[in-house]
This record gives sequence, C-alpha cells and structure tokens, in this order.
Amino acid sequence: MSKGLIVQKFGGSSVANVERIQNVAKRVTGYRKKGFDVVVVVSALGDTTDELIELASQITTEPSEREMDMLLSTGEQISVALLAMAIHKLGFEAISFTGSQVGIVTDKSHTKARIVKIATDRIKKELKVGRVVIVAGFQGVTPDDDITTLGRGGSDLTAVALAKELKADECEIYTDVDGIYSTDPRIEPKAKKLAQITYDEMLEMASLGAQVMQARSIEVAKKFDVPIHVRSSFSDKDGTMIIKEVKNMEDVLVTGITLNKNEAKITICEVPDKPGVAAKIFKELASSGISVDMIVQNVSHTRKTDISFTVNKNDAARTIKAIKKVNSDIGAGDILVDEDIARISIVGVGMKSHHGVAAKMFETLAHEKINIEMISTSDISISCIIKKNLGGTAVKILHEKFNLSK
Ligand code: ASP
Ligand code: MG
Repeated sequence: MSKGLIVQKFGGSSVANVERIQNVAKRVTGYRKKGFDVVVVVSALGDTTDELIELASQITTEPSEREMDMLLSTGEQISVALLAMAIHKLGFEAISFTGSQVGIVTDKSHTKARIVKIATDRIKKELKVGRVVIVAGFQGVTPDDDITTLGRGGSDLTAVALAKELKADECEIYTDVDGIYSTDPRIEPKAKKLAQITYDEMLEMASLGAQVMQARSIEVAKKFDVPIHVRSSFSDKDGTMIIKEVKNMEDVLVTGITLNKNEAKITICEVPDKPGVAAKIFKELASSGISVDMIVQNVSHTRKTDISFTVNKNDAARTIKAIKKVNSDIGAGDILVDEDIARISIVGVGMKSHHGVAAKMFETLAHEKINIEMISTSDISISCIIKKNLGGTAVKILHEKFNLSK
C-alpha cells in the first residue's frame, strides 16, 4: 500500500552536475523505500536556460517565440532523462516524460503559456506499477501540438499544478537555500528561517524582489490551496511551509523585509495640471510594454506639477524614449532619471489588523537619518524608496525594530 503521493520539484542548481543528479536520485528513492509514490519535476541543469537564450541571441535579437520554446524546452528534457538513468542505476524503476507526453496542455502564448488542462492518466498508470514518474518542468503543449514554456522559473508551476491535479499529499520545492528567510541573509546574517508563511505574504515578497519561487506558481497554489514545502536539496532539515493561514498570524506585525535595487526613479518635471495628462503618459508607457511601479504626483500650486514613478532599471532608456514621444503634446519640462535608489519593503498579514506599522517604519528610518523619497502601500506591505547605499542599513534596523531575529 502506498503511504501517499509526493510531488518533488528540483531546481536547476539541485541538478547542476552529475553528482547532484545522483544526489537527487538518492533522495527520491529514499522516499520510494519508505513506501511513497513519487512524481518528480526537474528544471534544466544549472544555467542551461540562460545559456540557450544567449545562444539564440547570437543568431537573432528577435527570435520567433515558437522556436524559442522549442529551444528552451530541450533543457528540461536533458534533466529528466539523466535523472531517470540515475534512479535506474540505484535499482529502482523510473520513467521520464516531456510536458507534452504527459498531456500538460496550455494556451498558445509562447514563452509565457498558461496551463489549461493536465491529463493524469499516464502518470497514474506508471505510478500504479511502481515507477517514479519524472516530468520535465516549465513546458507544455498547445492543442495543436506546439511546444510551449510557462515563463522563467516555470518548473515551480508545473510542480504545483501537478500536485493539485494529482491530489498529492505533499508538494516539495527543493532549492539551494534552506527555505524562506525573514530577509536576505547575505544582507542581515541574523535573518531567520521562517517555519511558515502565508501565500499572500509569499506573493508579496516575490513581487517585491525575493526570488525563491515563481510568483505565478504561488498564485496557483493559493487558488487551489496547495500547501508547499520549500526546502534545501542539500540537507534533510525542514524548510518553510507556504500555506493559507499561519498560527497567531495577527500577532506578528511583519513577517519579512525585502530590498530591491533594480528600479530607477523617473521624474517628469512641470507637467501641466489638467485632466488627461497622466493618462496620456501612462498609456504610452503601457503600449511600449513598460510596467510602472510606484507613482507619485504632487499637488500643484502653480498649475504645474512633478510626476515621479519607478520602473525596472532595464526599462529606463525605453521609458524616456516613450515619454519624449508624448511630451511635445503635453508640454512638460525636463525628464530626470535616478538609478541611485533602493526599494525597502516590509511585508506581513498582521498589518491588516494593527495600526501604527507604517509610522513605526518611518520613525525607524528617520532615526537613522534615512530620507524617504516615495512611499507606497498595499494591504499587507509598505514600501519606501530611499538612497541605494542606505539599503543595507535600512534592512538591518527594520529587522531589529520589528523583532525578526527572535
Ligand atoms: N529552466 C527554466 C528557467 O530557468 C525553468 C525553471 O528553472 O523553473 O527559467
Ligand atoms: Mg532555472
């Protein structure tokens, strides 16, 4: 009798070389020995996906997205076959599949496809005869049999979707860190591994720059309430559970702190204060495919006002180009770019039910003479733009003030 079904996903760094693939095989067969059925999802070896993208870029700057998917999906096909062999070598039965072979059907949006259906019969059949089923992450197939990929980091999504569809008892995401931390331990060595975090907090942290799991996979986990265990493939220690609700969650004001140094602040000076101007600017940015983050517009006393917002640093040049396109029409002044900024954010579901969290954050920064240039908030997060070189200090003092190392 099976003890239950586990879906285990191993990221690129967990299968970066032969030795690590053999390690994964040992872990997987360990669970088989204990009597579990195991479905394994793997990413491409190490930095393979980046290398394939680089290869394509040497041929063209505008590759067809369909061909990009043909190319990138090969990375995961290598991993599944090698892992199957490593498991065979340990004397266990295993079989590898591409996304298309197991029937992970997606829409046609190449390079960022959405899963529409997963056929589970083939997987169930193989599990029944005692095989470990290994599925290539990050890929699917359209109803017309074209290979698609699910966006960078998409193996997480494959794992979560399979766990949901197969009604797995556990979904484990193996990575090269021990779990989710209260903040980046490279910035604050006192950062603490969290035993639990809610889907909402994890989503917020992912969108604010903490890169442990693909944000879309957490959205799906939240939607279908699939608990996720994020843990290290190099140890047996428990990692972090990502779940719907954590115990005493309202007592904890702040769960995590993130620092994002990848944004630039754009300021359009002396924008005429009349209806339709902001709409013109941001419509132009949207149609150029630039996603805008924090936006601040000051009150005007002179019928002219400054508008500031942040974009990804990589989009700064394109942003200016786009604004210049509409600027003659609008009649605004100079456009300033400031890349010397960092976004510091605190995240916690407890904020919903407590007052004074923002005040405490601002006071803490003020006490350290850190100037706040912009502020934005959501239900469960508060972000401030500050000078880049003060980012590390800000993380440390907020970590201390909100008691996150306890
Ligand atoms: N190999 C793909 C990537 O690097 C998918 C994944 O790792 O989850 O984005
Ligand atoms: Mg990867």
